[in-house]
Amino acid sequence: MYFDSNTLVFLDGDYISAEQATCGAYAQSLHYGYAVFEGIRAYHTAQGTRIFKAREHYERLHYSCSAIGLPLNYSIEELTEISYDLLAKNNLTDAYIRPLAFAATPHMTLTTPTTGNLLMAVWKWDKYLGNKSLRLTVSPYERPNPKAVPIEAKVSGHYANSIIASSEAKGRGFDEALLLDMNGYVAEGPGANFFFERDGELFTAPGGSILRGITRNTIIDLAREAGIKVTEKFFRPEELQGATGAFMTGTAAEVIGIASVDDVVFEKPFEETLGAQLAERYTALVMGETVAAEAS
Ligand code: PMP
Repeated sequence: MYFDSNTLVFLDGDYISAEQATCGAYAQSLHYGYAVFEGIRAYHTAQGTRIFKAREHYERLHYSCSAIGLPLNYSIEELTEISYDLLAKNNLTDAYIRPLAFAATPHMTLTTPTTGNLLMAVWKWDKYLGNKSLRLTVSPYERPNPKAVPIEAKVSGHYANSIIASSEAKGRGFDEALLLDMNGYVAEGPGANFFFERDGELFTAPGGSILRGITRNTIIDLAREAGIKVTEKFFRPEELQGATGAFMTGTAAEVIGIASVDDVVFEKPFEETLGAQLAERYTALVMGETVAAEAS
């Protein structure tokens, strides 16, 4: 699904066959989850292949590397150029881009490595959570404590938490998990941010225990441009009682409606909510049909 015998990846300066891209058994990243990554989307637009918010994603990759002390020897411009080249070499225009900065050096000691490695892969990926409004459940697993890890960095090891929470929710028959922070406030999904609508306004968790998503920030900008009030605040799951609707946002998921959270069923179907209006604006923006929020 992700690659076949023709697929090329970028690995430490070379474009090589995906089948030949390997990682040694003693790589520090493999043992300790000590790596960082990005999830980026390219769209096939009227102006050609266009990577959405490449700068913001590669700035975050740089931030994530520096937050954990992992060397990254590529500039934002170089990373962007490699992304476009890799898409072209794989004949992809509408695709997901996965850069992974990691430490391949055999290094079993718990100290930062002196050299870093870079893998980049591209593949065709439909909307990560599908198109149907989701049934969420509040997870028994919390988001990692931000005093234990740099939670705004996209560190591979943090995703053990995401995998465990998502699988636990699916095991109980739900579509996805909704995780609380260490104080019992709603934080986010395993791979997407969460918004709810009440009285014509939108609410979402503030920074602190979440990955402040690039899609989340784009949706906030689009909402404000459309005259919709957005408030970032801490809220408990009980506050979702009486909400009109909810949705999640992420590069892979884009904008996806939420039908319910445990026994709270949102008043309106997603199609009739502000989330659906913003999803339309988001599509227009990524397709280069509007430009306003692109600048932010
Ligand atoms: N939260 C988490 C935990 C994520 O993994 C993601 C996906 N990167 C998001 C939120 C959404 O971030 P973005 O909109 O930048 O993709």
